[in-house]
Amino acid sequence: MIALKNKDDDEPTYTDNIRSQKSAQKRRKKPIRLSSTNPRRLLSKRNFGENNESPRPVKMCGSCTSKDETQLSSDRDKWPIGKIENGCFHQICSLLDLAVRSKEPLMSALDGFDQTTAAGIKTKYEAKGGLGTAEEVLGKWGSRNQENNVGALKKILKDTMQRDDVVIEIEKWENLRVCHGCGIKLNKPH
Ligand SMILES: [Zn+2]
Repeated sequence: MIALKNKDDDEPTYTDNIRSQKSAQKRRKKPIRLSSTNPRRLLSKRNFGENNESPRPVKMCGSCTSKDETQLSSDRDKWPIGKIENGCFHQICSLLDLAVRSKEPLMSALDGFDQTTAAGIKTKYEAKGGLGTAEEVLGKWGSRNQENNVGALKKILKDTMQRDDVVIEIEKWENLRVCHGCGIKLNKPH
């Protein structure tokens, strides 16, 4: 408690210094301007990516805008798997099909695949060396419920499967300009 009080005392001391400076100059309005500048600076530092690159980002494609599509969250972790841009999703699946890299197999890492289902899917893609497995598995898992979103997948990839290579692909997609309605890639604004 005493430590906390001391910390609190630090800031007023700084402000008091400014205040005494200002009162020496007999200008009362200046400290207000100062305090409105500082939070602004902090804010722009916090979302530097979005603010600097595009002050008014186009977040939806023409089609979604005209259909008045619901805009998805700016937090991509909350997006459904099905809204990942096609090219990125394909890349993610290709990497996941390299199953030997995974510490834990995809279908046991993602919940909800019983042994029969898992065996069926495995057999289906066996002839192609497993290619196509991840696409079907992620599609099924992602459409099962809302909790099976990008954030949940990333957590499983990191913690259970230890597939940082796939996480990197997801992060690349997170930096890609996509439509916040249907998920297609958007053109650069310039
Ligand atoms: Zn769209």
